[in-house]
Amino acid sequence: MKQIKINSARLISSIYEIARIGKLSNGGVRRLAFSKNDLIAKKKIIEWCEELGLNLSMDSIGNIFARLENNKNFTKKSTGIGSHLDTQPHGGKFDGAYGVLAGLEVIRTIVEKKIILKRPIELIIWSNEEGCRYTPPLMGSLFFTNSVKLKNLKKLKDSEGILLEDELIFFHNLGLKKVLNKKIDSFIEIHIEQGPILEKLKKSIGVVIGAQGSRGLNVDFVGEDSHSGTTPMNVRKDTVVALSNFVVDFTNEAKKLHKDLRATVGSIVTLPGSRNTVSGKSSITVDIRHKDPNILNKIEKIIANIGRKIELRLKVHVKIKKKLYGSKNNAAPNISFSLENTSLNKKLKKGKIPIDKKIDFHGMTVFEAERLFSQTVITCYENNFRNLLFVTGKGVLKKHNEDSHQVKLYYGKIRSGFFSWVKKNELQKYILAVEQASIEHGADGAFFVYLRKKKF
Ligand SMILES: [Zn+2]
Repeated sequence: MKQIKINSARLISSIYEIARIGKLSNGGVRRLAFSKNDLIAKKKIIEWCEELGLNLSMDSIGNIFARLENNKNFTKKSTGIGSHLDTQPHGGKFDGAYGVLAGLEVIRTIVEKKIILKRPIELIIWSNEEGCRYTPPLMGSLFFTNSVKLKNLKKLKDSEGILLEDELIFFHNLGLKKVLNKKIDSFIEIHIEQGPILEKLKKSIGVVIGAQGSRGLNVDFVGEDSHSGTTPMNVRKDTVVALSNFVVDFTNEAKKLHKDLRATVGSIVTLPGSRNTVSGKSSITVDIRHKDPNILNKIEKIIANIGRKIELRLKVHVKIKKKLYGSKNNAAPNISFSLENTSLNKKLKKGKIPIDKKIDFHGMTVFEAERLFSQTVITCYENNFRNLLFVTGKGVLKKHNEDSHQVKLYYGKIRSGFFSWVKKNELQKYILAVEQASIEHGADGAFFVYLRKKKF
């Protein structure tokens, strides 16, 4: 198969252009779902899709579909590619936006190179993935898969009392065609790593083989409000003590049950929340995740047991309510397989630049900026820039509010196809030696590549 290369500089600059919408002073991004910034970002993407002549449509919850129909088979189910554009209150530049813009870049490349596909490809932007302004998270894709009802979603209010249906009007007024019953064949999402595992393994990219099952529970503790000064310890029905015991027991039992089980108490509310009142009502959220439903059943039973023991011991009622269920899903094996065999990976293994051993990208933090960056290095090399010096700044490598973020400057050079890091105090030497400079930069000028034709 012929290998097709995307334009990584264009991808980076698109990511940076979108990152300006809702930009925070500390480098992060705030683009809450259904907010004005969310709307502006989507308008921009729609504009780009229109330039490509894509067939645009939107469903009732604001999911956007932009389909490339450049062959006779466009009636077939399509391959979706995309992600989300909404962020957490202190989100990062790459979370979601990278997936959307990588999808757009793929379509831009296909259009540019006049490639005819066997089935249509379409960019998909899911609404409200984060779920921090309106819950549940993954709202757009849950709606798409008929897992939530529109009439329930419309009545949701944010913390300021703004109805979701009122915000949705602005999105429907963007003027896209309405889509009611859309079917896609498969969906590909490129996403930054949310956890620390790839980074630990010193890998820059991995292929997801599935999503683990998840369950969300709410646990309410009901005791009795009483005065902190006058109520003796042995007659209290203190829900803070009860919930503290619960959290410790639950966490310990989960650790014992299975090493891959993820068990989290993420939110605690105690009422009335007063310094001098013994709390008579408290609530916590419990989040459990594992690929095996049997393990999830077991931990649910353990949770019920812990609740019963606490009721007996502390004279507080424990009510456990099931809230959310996410079933385990395997990724389509053919898609995972072809992703593992992408041109980038092949090149890394056997390509012209001996990246896997002699080029060490591992000193960098592991997330997608690094991959974009390494693609640019490959591009430069293939264009016969045999020696290149690069400097990448905090703008590219800073990802706000994510586990793996670090802010650093990295310097490196490629000499006759071999990569090495450059010490900061030696940097000037190389910069002075630059004969031909080409600067590729994102919106805030953070990405530089200096090229020179002669050997160092
Ligand atoms: Zn995301």
